[in-house]
Amino acid sequence: MNNSDNIYNLAVSGVQKLVPYVPGKPIEELERELGLSYIIKLASNENPLGPGKKALAAIQAILPDLALYPDGNGFELKSALAKKYNLDMNQITLGNGSNEILELVARAFLTPDLEVVFSQHAFAVYPLVTQAVGATAVVAPALNYGHDLDAMQRRVTAKTRLVFIANPNNPTGTLLSHSSLEAFIKALPVTCVCVLDEAYCEFVADQNVENSTAWLEKYPNLLITRTFSKAYGLAGLRVGYGLSSPQLADILNRVRQPFNNNMLALAAATAALTDSEHLQNTITVNEQGMQFITEGFKKLDLEWIPSAANFVLVDLKKPALPVYEALLRKGVIVRPVGVYELPNHLRITIGTSAENELFIEALAEVVSLS
Ligand SMILES: *Cc1c(COP(=O)(O)O)cnc(C)c1O
Repeated sequence: MNNSDNIYNLAVSGVQKLVPYVPGKPIEELERELGLSYIIKLASNENPLGPGKKALAAIQAILPDLALYPDGNGFELKSALAKKYNLDMNQITLGNGSNEILELVARAFLTPDLEVVFSQHAFAVYPLVTQAVGATAVVAPALNYGHDLDAMQRRVTAKTRLVFIANPNNPTGTLLSHSSLEAFIKALPVTCVCVLDEAYCEFVADQNVENSTAWLEKYPNLLITRTFSKAYGLAGLRVGYGLSSPQLADILNRVRQPFNNNMLALAAATAALTDSEHLQNTITVNEQGMQFITEGFKKLDLEWIPSAANFVLVDLKKPALPVYEALLRKGVIVRPVGVYELPNHLRITIGTSAENELFIEALAEVVSLS
């Protein structure tokens, strides 16, 4: 075998056909390409205020310990989360981002003869983790861009081992009602694990959404995932977690790496949980920015999908890529969502008020020219 391409034939079949996740364009890359000096990135739903002071101080304080392995059980962070949610520590799985939890659940529960149900326009990581283990993705058509729970339910069979639901969903920002969601979970067969991905729950005005943790008592097959990457402003550190029955958590903890969360991440996330001021500021800035940006769309006669999260999809009613590229040339990075079967939309992360103004200004120029 002297043709190095033959190596591809050795990979498991799901991986052979895998198309990797394409992240938002990094600022440095656009700087290199265009030589622009001022660039704003509203592409990856990151916190425009950055990390909070308490998280930064905790990182600073732990630096001298970096020669040691981190606490593989994440005792401090798990205790803090257990207290916050009134759960037992053994109901928590820590992940290198909540993305890792999504991968762990796929690895622990799927085989090539099993199926996974999720919605059209759902988060891109669900098909990736499904395909990587060779399981079959069963995609339910969306309803008004959101999850159609009835359509999803109809696709659940004895072969369905996992269901992924993002609430709010990324990239659409759509939100399911608390009662319809519980009815869906309740109706699932016990042979099916329900992953409720709540990466954006902190931004949702309806408090009911964060109270989904109360369901854990009733549904041992429910896994709720949350993250420090969005509202807590720690995307670069990679910390997320799963909340579930102790049995489900035990299974996930068996397959994770022993030190999957690094020491800086554990310290910063623990401190971030005590920084309610930073979280509140983040939520306020997001609400104001969402209002400003959607008013901007209105003035430009553009439609958008109402969003419960920290981003919004604007409908350009024509291919969005040229608009995306024209915005790039003005130093504004947003996110095309063609891979989500939404070729006429762009996803905009809500920024600081200065960033939002620059974005609307740039968008106004671009759409008036095209
Ligand atoms: C951003 C995001 C995540 C997770 O991100 P991590 O940084 O890995 O925690 C999970 N689900 C959705 C829907 C997201 O948008």
